[in-house]
Amino acid sequence: MPRVGVDTDIDVRLIQSTPGRGLVQVVGSSHLESIIVMGAGSTGAAIAHDLALRGYLVTLVERGEIASGTTGRNHALLHSGGRYAVKDPEAAQECMRENQILRRICPGVIEQVGGLFVAIDEEDEAYLVSFLVGCAESGIPTEVIGREEALRLEPELNPAVRLAVKVPDGVFDPFRLVASFVATAQANGVRVLPFCRVVGFVQDGRGVSGVRVVSDIRGSAMELKADLVINATGPWGGKVAEMAGARVPVMPSAGVMVALDRRLSRRVVNRLRKPGDGDIIVPQRATSLIGTTSWTVDELEPVPVPRDHIIRMVEEGARLIPAARHTPIKASFSSARPLISGNLESDGREVSRGFQTFDHGARDGIPGLVSVSGGKTTTSRAMAEHVGNLIGRLTGRDIPCRTAEVPLAPYYQYRLLGGLPEARREAVAP
Ligand SMILES: Cc1cc2nc3c(=O)[nH]c(=O)nc-3n(C[C@H](O)[C@H](O)[C@H](O)COP(=O)(O)OP(=O)(O)OC[C@H]3O[C@@H](n4cnc5c(N)ncnc54)[C@H](O)[C@@H]3O)c2cc1C
Repeated sequence: MPRVGVDTDIDVRLIQSTPGRGLVQVVGSSHLESIIVMGAGSTGAAIAHDLALRGYLVTLVERGEIASGTTGRNHALLHSGGRYAVKDPEAAQECMRENQILRRICPGVIEQVGGLFVAIDEEDEAYLVSFLVGCAESGIPTEVIGREEALRLEPELNPAVRLAVKVPDGVFDPFRLVASFVATAQANGVRVLPFCRVVGFVQDGRGVSGVRVVSDIRGSAMELKADLVINATGPWGGKVAEMAGARVPVMPSAGVMVALDRRLSRRVVNRLRKPGDGDIIVPQRATSLIGTTSWTVDELEPVPVPRDHIIRMVEEGARLIPAARHTPIKASFSSARPLISGNLESDGREVSRGFQTFDHGARDGIPGLVSVSGGKTTTSRAMAEHVGNLIGRLTGRDIPCRTAEVPLAPYYQYRLLGGLPEARREAVAP
């Protein structure tokens, strides 16, 4: 049974309360308000980093390992924005901007492989003009190449290829990207608590003044207090907000990915058409990731991996690169996008890949709680900037965002700085 109570060894600064303010300004500290960030996917990790740079006292709480949610199970595509250029120009522009920034601040976790959008049939070819116009309007550089050049660059492409368009897609390592955000945040004073699940909120009336967490490693429960709590729990965001009586219209939209046992291409290969099932192959580590499907799910524990989706991925992937059909499958897996929508009947394809922040004080009469949802791993830094600006308004401080300029620490410093090993050591100590 978990031990219930206030765990004073977590951070005594977080549980000293200041009359009238809920919490803490540590005497003699240069830190500002205390903030708890729930969820250490790409969004929560980037937020912790942003807020630490602005001088806030931040605790990052994650129920599992960092990046153990959707972030650790995605395509790993550093979007150029090409996939959204026709239907979702705002998301396309944001992807292109953030693609450039991430290449600058964390080059060590990104492979600058480039991407191709390939036309296999007449219908794909007919999409070319709207694709090029959309890319131009979103600031995405393109270069159209003919069949021979496409096959020279990617010899395993379907020989039926008619033409291709080069775009600045890239590939990131999802765990290492998050570890870089977290390592930098730790270096700036952020306390990271992996394997600590938020099971409820500390509320004064309706206002939120902390969280109740259970440590699955230590088998203990504790209460952490703070001036503000940020809900960055991705597809779980709706359920987590509900625990405080707040509402976030998250529509978890699942996708299946299939990892083949070698790289079939040097570049990211996309089908030149409206986004659909099995229209992308991403070279990631020693695999080729074919993705993805899209359907709305209620079940996240775990997100299902329907067998017919796996078959469809391989069939559609083989239309891009025929060898996909004969390459052994190393793994198939799924995860859910934290899309925002009022339309829960949709399958998720038509929902914007943009993101939204929610100030539950203004929205639901629950001060002290902020949520963020939507977006992509590629746009996590921008999401954090928006959240940081909102926190600045709520705390009456005008501190500029610096994350576009500050280089991230190397990913391996996450462990050296002691986040996870420290928790594990405590758990196994006799
Ligand atoms: C199939 C698929 C492919 C994708 N491909 C790409 C891609 O190639 N490129 C790209 O940029 N984006 C991609 N995305 C989108 C991207 O993965 C997501 O937008 C992003 O990972 C969401 O990050 P997040 O931090 O908001 O959520 P998550 O990564 O899910 O993080 C939320 C965290 O909250 C934690 N949590 C939940 N409940 C609690 C609790 N009660 N207490 C404490 N912690 C809790 C979870 O454990 C989790 O770690 C893809 C998405 C899908 C579904």
